[in-house]
Amino acid sequence: MTTETIFDKIIRNEIPADIVYEDDISLAFKDVNPQAPVHLLIIPKKRIATVNDIQEDERELVGHLFVVARKIAVQHGFAKDGYRLVMNCNDDGGQSVYHIHLHLLAGQTLGWPPFANAEPKQG
Ligand code: 5GP
Repeated sequence: MTTETIFDKIIRNEIPADIVYEDDISLAFKDVNPQAPVHLLIIPKKRIATVNDIQEDERELVGHLFVVARKIAVQHGFAKDGYRLVMNCNDDGGQSVYHIHLHLLAGQTLGWPPFANAEPKQG
């Protein structure tokens, strides 16, 4: 069993979040520390800690997050201009909340690569 995170409290409405989309199995809300003019987090309501923990029978659930991203992009008018979807995994990936989430970034031209200032690991 994975450990509960702050996102479980958001799912249960115990702490506030600026929710932009919700259905039976997923939730999308504004990131509290936005890195772009639009920065949303799309999460499954089911707790899955990391990409490493995704099971074969959860592929539809994970795919659903991308369908939600597409719906939001169309509804919010940035589908044509473009956007970026990112899911960080563990320390090297920059994951800080251990409940999988798709970052949806939009509203500007996004730089690439996203890790320009990072140093390669030694050894
Ligand atoms: P990660 O670093 O795990 O890929 O992304 C976690 C994201 O969750 C971060 O971008 C961080 O700003 C966001 N975050 C952390 N705590 C909260 C919170 O309580 N509310 C909201 N809306 N976002 C949060």
